[in-house]
Amino acid sequence: MREMIEQVLLDEKQIAERISDIGKKISQDYQGKDLLLIGVLKGAFIFLADLVRAIDLPIALDFVAVSSYGFSTETTGVVRIIKDVDYPVTGKHVLLVEDIVDSGLTLRYLAQVLAEQKPASLRICALLDKPERRKVSLDVDYVGFSIPNEFVVGYGLDYNGQYRNLPFVGALKHSIYSKSEA
Ligand code: 5GP
Repeated sequence: MREMIEQVLLDEKQIAERISDIGKKISQDYQGKDLLLIGVLKGAFIFLADLVRAIDLPIALDFVAVSSYGFSTETTGVVRIIKDVDYPVTGKHVLLVEDIVDSGLTLRYLAQVLAEQKPASLRICALLDKPERRKVSLDVDYVGFSIPNEFVVGYGLDYNGQYRNLPFVGALKHSIYSKSEA
């Protein structure tokens, strides 16, 4: 699979160190509070698995799933919830955990839907951020890495359902997606 990657942007060590730092920060910020982490499936599954083990607090966990880009590398702007939270988030300290913020549309929509249930607090944590691509304003409270405007895969992120199991974050060779999107 490595031959499909143009360039490794973040290796395993860099990712592990950054997640350890974010975990410590979250542990300080939520000291004495009941924290509910909500992972956005599927892309956040590896990040979330590592992040929860870097948090030294009792936590609860839930998941939401939203419609993906399908076979494209561009968002349609239409976000659809495929799997909602199992329990209402009313009165809870919620941390929404996402793999990457691109246009910001997915997280803005999810944050709006969750805010309607009146959580005690609602923050956002994303492993990756592409600030250049933002279409809507969004406060991301915990960011792993800001990255350039490249389509990336690995460490949970896919292209066409593949590459999620790469242990690093890398830019896919342009020839791979230009072929499928032609
Ligand atoms: P947004 O709604 O912020 O435009 O997009 C968020 C979602 O788009 C992410 O959860 C992810 O599924 C997908 N996405 C955005 N950029 C990338 C990227 O570079 N690589 C991959 N694999 N997915 C991306």
